[in-house]
Amino acid sequence: MRDRKRIYLSPPHMSGKEQMKIEEAFKSNWIAPLGPLVNEFEQVVADYAGVKRGAALSSGTAAIHLALKLLGVQKGDMVFCSTLTFVASANPILYEQATPVFIDSEKETWNMCPLALEKAFAETKRLGKRPRAVIVVHLYGQSAKMDEIIAVCEAYDVPIIEDAAESLGSIYKGRKSGSMGRFGVYSFNGNKIITTSGGGMLVSDDEAAIDRCRFLASQAREHALHYEHQEEGYNYRMSNLLAGVGIAQMEVLEERVQQKRRIFERYQDALADIEGLQFMPEYQDTTSNRWLTTFTIDHHAQMSPVEMIDALEQKQIEARRVWKPLHQQPLFHGYPFYTTADEVPASELLFETGLCLPSGTSMTDAEQELVIDTLYNALQKKALPSS
Ligand SMILES: *Cc1c(COP(=O)(O)O)cnc(C)c1O
Repeated sequence: MRDRKRIYLSPPHMSGKEQMKIEEAFKSNWIAPLGPLVNEFEQVVADYAGVKRGAALSSGTAAIHLALKLLGVQKGDMVFCSTLTFVASANPILYEQATPVFIDSEKETWNMCPLALEKAFAETKRLGKRPRAVIVVHLYGQSAKMDEIIAVCEAYDVPIIEDAAESLGSIYKGRKSGSMGRFGVYSFNGNKIITTSGGGMLVSDDEAAIDRCRFLASQAREHALHYEHQEEGYNYRMSNLLAGVGIAQMEVLEERVQQKRRIFERYQDALADIEGLQFMPEYQDTTSNRWLTTFTIDHHAQMSPVEMIDALEQKQIEARRVWKPLHQQPLFHGYPFYTTADEVPASELLFETGLCLPSGTSMTDAEQELVIDTLYNALQKKALPSS
């Protein structure tokens, strides 16, 4: 027990070829930010997604921030955003002093509910307003209902930013996750399906916009022999070294998706008959990268998600609750929230009942068995009469 390694939720998994790429950068002395590997990485990711261009950045959060800048989001503007997500989806709205408006989830995908979105648009219109952008998240690899969401956004003529930080490798009706909105956002943070240790990318078919993204991300330096600046810029570019890691990681993306899906299937086979337990469904005509295996456990079940996390923690196994909805976060207190639920909003229910299991692709079969056995043992102990 003591000498066993901790089992993490989703640790980095290197292919072994990353160091060769880093060597390449060292040999050519392209250590400084930017360089040939950044260009190559951008092309590899854009080609994979089936879009024209990508800008490699220091994080997914930076990509969301610059997408908002490119869409002209300014102080006082509204931006609609999925509520059930990591805080990074919405923090950039605050950077621009714009107003986040949160949209509830629906139960089939756990993602943005097209009906709640329509409701938000209609009520906002009645106030004589229109959001500048809609940020749609594909949670844990699951695609949101994009056809419906695109239809609503087109009706109101508002561009979509796809936050595909968790869904690189997922497919919606033949289209790559992150390729369907005006902009797509990927993250290469250490916990994501592939990683550059830290990094992100903004992709789009709008080549001029991506060029401008690269400009803004490099201190908005004008073309001149001296340092000339007309606009406020950022230091958001990815370094050439990390782009090398990214190129090597992209080579194993498909393999990682298959591994994640196999991890999910093993959990599903082993845990399916636990009463009240329901895995995150896979929406029709989509393929999820199953970044994290997640399920809900209802109120009639013997154990709550928190009790399960405690039981796993005692065996040095990391599990987490589902993201706490942003409209419930103190940070976003007072901002509008739209739902079609009569009672408890779907996102709140998912937070109350949801759990994420360790889903690292480097996890061994034996380690996964231990996670499964630990859960079963805890449930059994719970079932014994306590007196
Ligand atoms: C990880 C993540 C981000 C942010 O990506 P970073 O590269 O860590 O800045 C944004 N949105 C979601 C949904 C994420 O999971």
